Amino acid sequence: MTTKSLIAANWKMNKSVKEAVSFIEDFKNYVKDVEIVICPSFTLLNKLNESIKNTNIKLGAQNMHFEEKGAFTGEISGLMLKDVGCEYVILGHSERRQYFNETDELINKKIKAALKNKLKPILCIGENLQQRNNNQTMGIIKKQIIGDLNNVSDREIKNIIVAYEPIWAIGTGKNATPEQAEEVHKFIRELLSKKYNGNAAKNTRIIYGGSMKPENAKELLSMPDIDGGLVGGASLDAKSFAKICSVRI
Ligand code: PEP
Repeated sequence: MTTKSLIAANWKMNKSVKEAVSFIEDFKNYVKDVEIVICPSFTLLNKLNESIKNTNIKLGAQNMHFEEKGAFTGEISGLMLKDVGCEYVILGHSERRQYFNETDELINKKIKAALKNKLKPILCIGENLQQRNNNQTMGIIKKQIIGDLNNVSDREIKNIIVAYEPIWAIGTGKNATPEQAEEVHKFIRELLSKKYNGNAAKNTRIIYGGSMKPENAKELLSMPDIDGGLVGGASLDAKSFAKICSVRI
């Protein structure tokens, strides 16, 4: 891996404007020199875009529609996310797949739309517990990579971050062991190296998500193919997220 590691916070449906601004005030004093992405609710983006000025924190959204504008009540477009300072967008999170029936085909459309709007997708993939127990993990990962990255070019893949998020580890407090995570990350990199030319696979960041916390971040981030983290629960508290971001390998 040649590029800098990246730690992203997925705040999900949490925090008021006041709570979010106070988080940034606390957090920015703790952490320097790491690429950090905060993905808050849509309602917080505009305000946080001001709060993160002159910090090393970047802004990301948790979802978007694939159209740029029009009659799609309740939806937010990539164009709108750019307008409020987003550089990243989480796509294909397992909660979107599970509760909102997002398919690989839909996620692929969103990925293409995000890239068109110069947003970097954080593409989430991963298996559930039953699939892991049935030895289907690699098959699921392959299916998601093929479907979600359909028609994504050699040039475009550099702007995508792949997040391996085993569903059984999300919000459960039970993270994948570093060895379990590394096995899948390595497999993802191999898939990318078959699909893309040159250094694309080497340079694509593959980050891990699923109960990452201060106590396990170092051992996970030390693995050769783990290039950062996507953090849910432990990113809601400034001190705990700062501890994860401060891990040095
Ligand atoms: C997530 O939902 O992306 C996530 C990684 O959550 P948690 O850290 O809470 O498991």
